[in-house]
Amino acid sequence: MTSSASITQNSSTAAPQDFSGQLLPMIERWVRFESPSHSEEALHGMARMIAHDARQLGLHAQAQPLSTEGSPLVHIHNRRDGDARPGLLVLGHYDTVHPIGTLEKNPLRIEGDKLYGPGAYDMKAGICLALSALAQAQAQGGTALPVDLVILPDEETGSHRSRRRIEDFARRSRYALVCEPARTEGGRCVTARKGTGFITVKAHGRPSHAGMQHQKGRNAIEEIAHQILALQAMTDYARGITVSVGVVQGGTTVNVVPEHSQLTADFRLPDPQAAEELRAKVNALRARVPDVTLEVDFQLNRPPMPRTDATVELLRRCQAYAAGVGLVLDEAPMTGGASDANFTAALGLPTLDGLGADGDGAHTLYEHILLSTLEPRRRFWLATLQGLE
Ligand SMILES: [Zn+2]
Repeated sequence: MTSSASITQNSSTAAPQDFSGQLLPMIERWVRFESPSHSEEALHGMARMIAHDARQLGLHAQAQPLSTEGSPLVHIHNRRDGDARPGLLVLGHYDTVHPIGTLEKNPLRIEGDKLYGPGAYDMKAGICLALSALAQAQAQGGTALPVDLVILPDEETGSHRSRRRIEDFARRSRYALVCEPARTEGGRCVTARKGTGFITVKAHGRPSHAGMQHQKGRNAIEEIAHQILALQAMTDYARGITVSVGVVQGGTTVNVVPEHSQLTADFRLPDPQAAEELRAKVNALRARVPDVTLEVDFQLNRPPMPRTDATVELLRRCQAYAAGVGLVLDEAPMTGGASDANFTAALGLPTLDGLGADGDGAHTLYEHILLSTLEPRRRFWLATLQGLE
């Protein structure tokens, strides 16, 4: 079934737009609207702004709830009615790590080639690049594949609410392109990311008076100390596996043998086999202090994003589109940072990440993008969206 009615029809009847000229004002507007992961009200406002700007650019945009309450995903697309072809999935996130008020410490400003501001590099400018290019492609006759630009509110906290929806979109797509920041030193893209997760170990001992009944106590902190060393020793740099105990808690007051203690560790690993090996080692942890019990939890939050042959093929094609507009698109080595690309790649979808803005300082107060790279990267996106099939 095909229909001649296009849901993006208004783009062809609107006055010609200066897509390139509208890019920087849009980035500035979005950066000025602070949208930390933990501020629901701000996130709702940001979602409305994104959907509004997409409609102004002639695209169909809809905020879709992820749950009964909480901030929505924003789905922007150029699908014609009835077009159910597997398309090009473009992923972004509109939350940032910066709390409200960061703009006062890192105000939006331009110094030379750098535009500073919280969330500019990670990743509001990256979404604006893809959005602007999609709008222009649509105004110039459309894209080879239907494009779903899906922008999420919770990437910086692990995408727990979004994950299922990302995977639903991924299963209906042919490729995924992700707007995370380009790597420094030449704006390189990302073809492989480590998998990440958390380990929690809780020790339950027996409390006693630290002076009068020391021998009756079973010290949970002592037990956790053993587990810290055991977990740290699971790091294997040669294989790219790291375990880092990051938070330790325990005890009540100094003259009580502590009954409870716990740790949380971060881990990163390069492939599914390493994940299963680490899971087995962690599940084999046993208490060392007599009578103490352990609770162990291993959570692989984001599976590894492997560099598959299909990913390399997608990279080659994107490099050709980049070369066509005078941009060199190099590939960064595997990174320890995870993103929503991990979810799509783990489903076997050829995925390329790090296609957002070029700059530096993600998650810091010197976060910035490089203005001179915006237009070349916007043209790369335009060529890719128009051509990739
Ligand atoms: Zn990001």
